[in-house]
Amino acid sequence: MATLKIFSLAKHGRFGVPKNIRMYSSRDKDILAPSKGYIFVNNKELSMDLNDITDRSAQTLFLSELLRGFGVTLAHIFKEPATINYPFEKGPLSPRFRGEHALRRYPSGEERCIACKLCEAICPAQAITIEAEERADGSRRTTRYDIDMTKCIYCGFCQEACPVDAIVEGPNFEFSTETHEELLYNKEKLLNNGDKWESEIASNLQADHLYR
Ligand code: SF4
Ligand code: SF4
Repeated sequence: MATLKIFSLAKHGRFGVPKNIRMYSSRDKDILAPSKGYIFVNNKELSMDLNDITDRSAQTLFLSELLRGFGVTLAHIFKEPATINYPFEKGPLSPRFRGEHALRRYPSGEERCIACKLCEAICPAQAITIEAEERADGSRRTTRYDIDMTKCIYCGFCQEACPVDAIVEGPNFEFSTETHEELLYNKEKLLNNGDKWESEIASNLQADHLYR
């Protein structure tokens, strides 16, 4: 085991140690550092074979590793980039993506939700709060539909439980806010989300209908 370097902790700190360097405390008696600091031992022994020595010398002399590195960089210039220019470009999303919640309406404008409260009952995070009453026409509708988005774990159970596809998790993932209050969604906010994302939500549900 060849000792390569001795660092003093004060000078170099404990972090940023290369992976092939093992660190020992100065209490390890066999490899005690002369100083009170730490000793670092490289556990990769360099071969002293003549061929290996010649290879290493040639690599150092002709900067071959540097040139190979430049070659890799150059090759990537002509390849399609692996990154996208977010937020101006966006990657594809699965139809099953579970993003921001929305309450949907029928094409007539009537709310889909019939206030059955199945979503509220199934929500493992207890993030949904519903209050309901009967309308004059005898139909049952919610008077309050709140989701605490800071409790939600985006499990999608509410969407699965809903018998009329009213509550859904839409494709929107850009709804970060600066305050907690902005993530306490009420019925109006959820219905607005539904109106805004209806075409995307409808096409996602259609794309996935065979598996539901
Ligand atoms: S996605 Fe899951 S945690 Fe979030 S509101 Fe729906 S059921 Fe609750
Ligand atoms: S959103 Fe769906 S599951 Fe929830 S109360 Fe309305 S109809 Fe029932």
